Amino acid sequence: MSLQGLKCLVIGAGIGGLTVARALALRGAEVTVLEQAEAIREVGAGLQISPNGFAVLRALGLDEALRAVGVQGEAVSLRDYRKGEVARLDLTRLDSRDYYFLHRADLIEVLAEGARAAGVRIRLLQRVAKVEPGARPAVHLCNGAVLEADLVVGADGLHSKARQALNGTTAPFFTRQVAWRAVIPNTEARGPEARVHMGPMRHVVSYPLREGRLLNLVAVQERAAWTAESWSQRDDPLSLRAAFEDFGPEVQTMLSRVEEVYLWGLFRHPVAPKWHADGVAILGDAAHPTLPFMAQGACMALEDAWALAEALSGEGALEARLSAYQARRAGRAKRVVDAASGNAWKYHLSFPPLRWAAHGVLRAGGRFAPERMMRQFDWIYGHDETAS
Ligand SMILES: Cc1cc2nc3c(=O)[nH]c(=O)nc-3n(C[C@H](O)[C@H](O)[C@H](O)COP(=O)(O)OP(=O)(O)OC[C@H]3O[C@@H](n4cnc5c(N)ncnc54)[C@H](O)[C@@H]3O)c2cc1C
Repeated sequence: MSLQGLKCLVIGAGIGGLTVARALALRGAEVTVLEQAEAIREVGAGLQISPNGFAVLRALGLDEALRAVGVQGEAVSLRDYRKGEVARLDLTRLDSRDYYFLHRADLIEVLAEGARAAGVRIRLLQRVAKVEPGARPAVHLCNGAVLEADLVVGADGLHSKARQALNGTTAPFFTRQVAWRAVIPNTEARGPEARVHMGPMRHVVSYPLREGRLLNLVAVQERAAWTAESWSQRDDPLSLRAAFEDFGPEVQTMLSRVEEVYLWGLFRHPVAPKWHADGVAILGDAAHPTLPFMAQGACMALEDAWALAEALSGEGALEARLSAYQARRAGRAKRVVDAASGNAWKYHLSFPPLRWAAHGVLRAGGRFAPERMMRQFDWIYGHDETAS
């Protein structure tokens, strides 16, 4: 069914919001995106788009633009914090080679261009205060204006007002883990692979960005003290270096080049029980925030965006189409969220015999059954939401 004339308000010009805006507009909907910021911009950090996320970008005709700004990933190298490589996941063995390391700002630019080219109107400085589901769902802006539409899509991230309208407020749970993020020059000209340095109660992930000129760093540490759940809180590079001072020379070299660093607390949120009601739907982090340990938050937002646009193009009343969207996505999203939550401990083993045993299993798997090691990710990377 064409969405011709369906008036949609999308809250949030992030990854999920811009993607769903293009997907809806290409099917005929009249789409306006409301973004609180004064410019379309992103935090200076990298992210990985695996083949399942890329499949959505391809179906939306953004694959070439994406390839032009991404570094094609060739491997993930799992390393002991002091002794070097334990195992290597060969990304060239995946059925699809479309695994990319990207600067977030470059992805957002491609998505925003794509949305505008499909006729989407992006309105900046529009902070939403409240979402009101109803026969004619409405969005209340902080400046007092009230906007109505046929459909409101909440793509407003971790602290979503749309999620709150559908599900009330739930208190997230601090995982006792914090993460630093930084971008540094790739002085050693590291090739197109992600490296995970695994140490007791800590790990560091690094991979190249922007034609290999930069390296993205994410460093995770378990600790008892609480830290805010904000991606834009600055920290002192010295505290990052101090937290990883017993890691080997490769990590020390990277950390010595950090000049600007951000620290955030990692929280677990339950997957929202309700993804829609009375003309309002949610997607991406608004519906199912995930820990970063599977690098799938953005990819899930892309998959949701496609699934929502496709479900809306089906037959039946609006609410039935929105139910079909949740039914299609909720199980997969929960599986990914649970997998990410269960992943950190594998990197952080602190009891040496246990760590040696686990690394031994990884080493043996990498040497004798590399194919099988990769196949365990098939359910994530091999999924094509656009083919469902
Ligand atoms: C350091 C880091 C590394 C990550 N790495 C990866 C990775 O490698 N691969 C991956 O797939 N995922 C990764 N993720 C997760 C991924 O970034 C998120 O899951 C993804 O951004 C979610 O997209 P979204 O559109 O749902 O929300 P967001 O990207 O958070 O977008 C929400 C938008 O809504 C706007 N907004 C919020 N509230 C309002 C309001 N009240 N009114 C108007 N506008 C509002 C915000 O300004 C923002 O523009 C990473 C996350 C972090 C922090």
